[in-house]
Amino acid sequence: MKTIKVSVVTPDGPVYESDVEMVIARTQSGELGILPGHIPMVAPLQIGAVRLNKEGKTDFVAVSGGFVEVRSEQVTILAQSAEEADEIDIERAIRAKERAEQRLHEQKRENIDFKRAELALQRAVNRITVSEKHL
Ligand code: ATP
Repeated sequence: MKTIKVSVVTPDGPVYESDVEMVIARTQSGELGILPGHIPMVAPLQIGAVRLNKEGKTDFVAVSGGFVEVRSEQVTILAQSAEEADEIDIERAIRAKERAEQRLHEQKRENIDFKRAELALQRAVNRITVSEKHL
């Protein structure tokens, strides 16, 4: 099976590196499946799971937005934060989710912090979902 090199990188350093058969990421314009030989491109990512298929298994990485860059031999995902499923502290994500929900209840829609709380909620829910893939 043909493979492509994938790196997930954050400001704190690399989070995931491997040769995989397929990468599936959620871009701003929808789900993107990348196989070896994909045309070069750059696309902004949503908060979501990146799925990495290899040898009949799937690795999951939670990413908080960023960009995916596809080159002929390499896929690079640059994310503000990223965690592999088994690295996620589920209790912390649950606490973050509760805090964000609390803020959303307290605040009016036009408040600038509403968007911030909404993004925090998305990050927390994404981490909870991805960490469950590992259980
Ligand atoms: P929190 O409120 O719990 O800090 P957050 O969404 O504000 O959550 P981020 O700003 O996205 O956190 O991330 C800060 C750093 O903490 C990053 O390095 C990220 O990978 C890490 N991180 C955040 N939440 C978790 C978690 N539940 N498990 C493991 N690492 C986490």
